[in-house]
Amino acid sequence: MSRPRGVSRRAFLAAAAGAGGLLPAGLAGAGGGEVKVPSRGVVAAVSSGNGLRATARAVELVRQGADTLDAAVAGVNIVEEDPEDASVGYGGLPNEEGVVELDACVMHGPTWSCGAVAALQKIKTPSSVARLVMTRTDHVLLVGEGALRFALAHGFEPVNLLTEKARKEWLRWKESRSPIDDWIEPREAEAKMRSRPTGTITCLVLDAKGDLSGVTSTSGLAFKLPGRVGDSPIIGAGLYVDNDAGAAGATGRGEAVITAGGSRIVVENMRRGMSAAEAVRDVLERIARQTLDPRLRDKEGRPSFDVSLYALKRNGEVASGSLWSGKRFAAHDGETNALRDCFHLFARSGKEGG
Ligand code: ASP
Repeated sequence: MSRPRGVSRRAFLAAAAGAGGLLPAGLAGAGGGEVKVPSRGVVAAVSSGNGLRATARAVELVRQGADTLDAAVAGVNIVEEDPEDASVGYGGLPNEEGVVELDACVMHGPTWSCGAVAALQKIKTPSSVARLVMTRTDHVLLVGEGALRFALAHGFEPVNLLTEKARKEWLRWKESRSPIDDWIEPREAEAKMRSRPTGTITCLVLDAKGDLSGVTSTSGLAFKLPGRVGDSPIIGAGLYVDNDAGAAGATGRGEAVITAGGSRIVVENMRRGMSAAEAVRDVLERIARQTLDPRLRDKEGRPSFDVSLYALKRNGEVASGSLWSGKRFAAHDGETNALRDCFHLFARSGKEGG
């Protein structure tokens, strides 16, 4: 296994030695990041760490005969409507002006079709709107005001997506940005924002016929520039489904996932014969190699951000890996629905960013 370009030998060896570090492909570390689902004739779902309810719901619906995309959207809707998840849908963290802008996409394996919305305001369930872009327009992606008008035309109810909790987080961020602007931080230490929160949900579903679908949904990078769109609504970046090969989704730094063509390459790797874990590892290593901007690297030359990738191969293999240790993913293997550790390229010592 080659050392990613620019990653110091010391950092590479340290990661390789650590539990769940850079092990040979297919032996993906302690906690593994892999789930063996008995092939064919089974139902499986994989999601990001915030998606345990999504995988449970999706598998339940598929077992009742639902289409894989309907099941994935219904699973993701639970998290989109939950005000406690600050990374998706209602309750998601806003842009730098305090406005919540949501991104989502869907892809339906059996019909090779997809739909997406970006920078959508006021609608709690952008994945449902993305599904309608797929089925009720001749387009793939609607953005901003046009996406909102389309959602309203289909009867979605406009709401204020900014919860009190999210507003207070945004205000804390705004007040702690600069000592020389006119915003003053509250005195209480606990009110200070320590790191910029991240998050997204992706959900991939396989049914007993071998049909696949996927959904990715997010409020995007917290406090982003208004109009900024990450990987989540971009087919091929935050999600890709090839009904003959497998499905993949991504969370984490969207700019890096777009640049790498993340989910598309994971799926293509599986199509060319890699296991789900090998396919994910290859793309994580590409991202590490391609991160050349010193602004995005730590002292050891490693990416200072995180990306997680999720893969569901058509034969039922499931894998998830991250650049950095500590991430979890949800997987339903047809029997058990549980959170599991992602494998990783780099072990956190507690000091690195990411
Ligand atoms: N991938 C998302 C984006 O870049 C954010 C995240 O998953 O943290 O918009």
